[in-house]
Amino acid sequence: MGNIAHTYYPQQGRLVILGAGESGVGAAILGKDKGFDVFVSDMGNIADSYKNKLDQENIQFESGKHTHDLIINAALVVKSPGIPEKAPLIVELRSLGIPVISEIEFAAQYTDAKLICITGSNGKSTTTMLTYYMLKNGGLNVGLAGNIGKSFAYQVARENFDTYVLEISSFMLDDMYHFRADVAVILNITPDHLDRYDYNMDNYVNSKFRMIQNQTEADYFIYLADDEETVKALQRFYIKALQLPMSQEKEVVPGAFLNKENNIIINIPKREIFAMNIEELSLQGRHNVYNSMASGLIAKVQDLRNQIVKDSMGSYVNIAHRLEHIGYIGGVNYINDSKATNVNSVWYALESFSTDIVLLLGGVDKGNDYEMLRDLVKDKVKAIVCIGKDTSRIHDAFEDDVEIIVNSSSMKDAVQIASHLASKGDTVLLSPACASFDWFKNYEDRGDKFKEAVMAL
Ligand code: ADP
Repeated sequence: MGNIAHTYYPQQGRLVILGAGESGVGAAILGKDKGFDVFVSDMGNIADSYKNKLDQENIQFESGKHTHDLIINAALVVKSPGIPEKAPLIVELRSLGIPVISEIEFAAQYTDAKLICITGSNGKSTTTMLTYYMLKNGGLNVGLAGNIGKSFAYQVARENFDTYVLEISSFMLDDMYHFRADVAVILNITPDHLDRYDYNMDNYVNSKFRMIQNQTEADYFIYLADDEETVKALQRFYIKALQLPMSQEKEVVPGAFLNKENNIIINIPKREIFAMNIEELSLQGRHNVYNSMASGLIAKVQDLRNQIVKDSMGSYVNIAHRLEHIGYIGGVNYINDSKATNVNSVWYALESFSTDIVLLLGGVDKGNDYEMLRDLVKDKVKAIVCIGKDTSRIHDAFEDDVEIIVNSSSMKDAVQIASHLASKGDTVLLSPACASFDWFKNYEDRGDKFKEAVMAL
């Protein structure tokens, strides 16, 4: 299970950490424990809680600047996934031949734990949390990390888990080179973050497929056989791991599929066959059938008993901001799907409801192509309330399909407009398809403001 041979990167000397968020501070602590001379640098303001932590650990840092000479003498650099490859400092470090890696790549060198890694354009957090819940219920000594919860590096330094479930974003993957996943999951690949990939879909797909780059015959690769981009990409990669596809369209063995009676069937070599009707899943909606399949496959690979898998899939309560039911007001159902930051997740949200929908849409557009929403929007959406600074692309995309498209001046305003447009039996759905940082701090803030405004109606 050892993940990265210890020889790829310097094991001593100056370790510079760029970005002092959860992952950076965790990497700094692990680096210090391993005997590096650690320096942390953040262009923005470091949160007080992290400053205190660094002080407690006697780790040097700077906040609000990158001092060139204190960085350029590094033996090894760990960079936050938020810093783009094109940032001049990164370009210079690369040109000097100084390795620049992600926190996950760095920390994986120092653990023999089994690594279950989940990526995809959508469904990462849900699947990661559901898997973690399941494996814990199965009695495994398991940690949760990656894009979620406590830093992986910190846990490698100070905890002692046998298995980790890691949520991995494509930005993290971009700085992973020798890392090996015992179980790699690519949930789906649909356009997102294309601004960071030169607006080239292949670049983004390649980034997701870095997930399987060092896998061996002893490992597992779970992917979506119904996903066009994934299936196309399979031709381009040499895959050594045992492939476990998922499908709702056809029978796949080994793998997970939906049979005619709407049972999820999981069939893996040397494991008892698992079956569960989708009505019994606690997470409803077509997309969650996939997420449940992925978690179920992982659990079966880890030899969990069918009853535990079934109980877990039936009782898991999802984290906030993902198709979260806020309440019924005047017979109108209010749903917070603030985490829907791209078009594909909005597609699944619209697909999940059979009522008429008043849709709150908009924010920072990442180069969205709204075409895939057109049929569902025509069919189900009676009005769109635009949120965010620039709403012109939404008007352009849907002016022929939806009778009412109105702008709003704040979340409170948007919710009030939506409540007037909705009739009894309708759904008001916040599923923005965009990033949030024009009006809000982040998607959680956007979802919380939505909830507040709904409660105030
Ligand atoms: P991520 O961590 O990848 O952003 P989340 O689990 O937080 O994924 O869900 C993000 C959004 O995508 C939510 O709106 C959710 O309803 C939707 N979603 C969840 N799973 C899937 C899936 N498998 N396919 C498409 N959309 C999904």
